[in-house]
Amino acid sequence: MDNQFFKFDDRLNNAAKEALEKAKGAFARIDEMTEYNQHKVLSAFIENRVSETQLWGTTGYGYGDSGRELADKIVADVFGAEDAIIRYSIACGTHALGIALFSLLRPGDNMLCITGRPYDTICPVIGMDGKNGQGSLADFGVTYLQTDLDENGHLDYEAIEKAVKANKIRLVYLQRSRGYTLRDSLSVEEIGKAVKIVKENSDALVMVDNCYGEFVEKTEPTAVGADLIVGSLIKNPGGGVAKCGGYMAGTKEAIDLCSYRLTTPSLGKEVGASLESTREILMGLFHAPHVVGEALKTAVFAASLFEDFGFETTPSSDEARHDIIQAIKLKNSENLIAFCQGLQKGSPVDSYVTPEPWDMPGYPCQVIMAAGAFTSGSSIELSADAPLREPFAVWMQGGLNFHSGKIGIMLAAQEMIKRNLI
Ligand SMILES: *Cc1c(COP(=O)(O)O)cnc(C)c1O
Repeated sequence: MDNQFFKFDDRLNNAAKEALEKAKGAFARIDEMTEYNQHKVLSAFIENRVSETQLWGTTGYGYGDSGRELADKIVADVFGAEDAIIRYSIACGTHALGIALFSLLRPGDNMLCITGRPYDTICPVIGMDGKNGQGSLADFGVTYLQTDLDENGHLDYEAIEKAVKANKIRLVYLQRSRGYTLRDSLSVEEIGKAVKIVKENSDALVMVDNCYGEFVEKTEPTAVGADLIVGSLIKNPGGGVAKCGGYMAGTKEAIDLCSYRLTTPSLGKEVGASLESTREILMGLFHAPHVVGEALKTAVFAASLFEDFGFETTPSSDEARHDIIQAIKLKNSENLIAFCQGLQKGSPVDSYVTPEPWDMPGYPCQVIMAAGAFTSGSSIELSADAPLREPFAVWMQGGLNFHSGKIGIMLAAQEMIKRNLI
């Protein structure tokens, strides 16, 4: 393939062609799943009779904001939940997860996380690592318990059953995505199995950190009995359109509790002006299944190409996917730096910027990041992060459309070729 706009050498062009050929089966599966999810979303819009005037938004208290209520209803329908909350006033995924945790837990309660150590930003919310005094769950007398993943990185069902039988657990918490570790992400089916064990052996509620998982499968964890799922709108469900925000979806009881924490007891979901957010929230949700499909194709292509160059990938190009994250073990710092600097060159925004490793707060080593996004920090847009330490892996995700995502991945490879690294 001769490219008029990007000059890749023959070796890379041939490798890309082979990578695409190898990815054919995976692409067909992604297309099938994307079409299913897109139809699901479109039918929810039609069933709920979305009208143009509902997209305009409200000011002040926001009483009777039918657009806001409509967006909540559509999210609930799409995710197979009784009720939902989707808002720009939720700052980010961590904020959404924090609201949910404080909504479902009370002083004296036990919380059990069944996927090992939670995502970095959630640990201070729980009050792990002794960093208390800011109003963490620990400060309010909530006890944190944990079961670890088994040696293969999967749920340890026996340990979960033992833990829920031995302790009075109010909330079981699990993280669907691998996050920035090399464990596998969890399938909805595996989550369903864990929910069944928890519900058979206790009265605990189950909450899922659903970040990066939305629309990657045909159903969400709410369909297999999770009481609450929570995520960020600058990832999958924002479709690359939402400018910020978060959501939660689940049982009526769980969402009512969340609404009293989101605003305040008695007011709940009745207030909260949507300003001009409703149009973007709904447009983003409408695009989300397709955009997630494009991000998945970008990830599969990256895995396939870098496998050709002899690198280990997780998930591999033909493995089932349960989130949009692709990790590639690039073996050393030089490769990580070249990859991120090359990827940046393929961004629609800030393509001319050269990312450099920096001492990121909270990290014991330098980290390099590539991000050239329309929305700051958006990781449904093509982006990559790499801590410069063992296992020398880059975690990449996103890509609003495959055609541009593919160029970003190829520019990352080209930069490595140019520096004689591959
Ligand atoms: C992104 C993410 C979060 C929340 O992060 P924010 O940066 O606050 O949006 C939580 N858990 C996981 C697994 C994530 O990927």
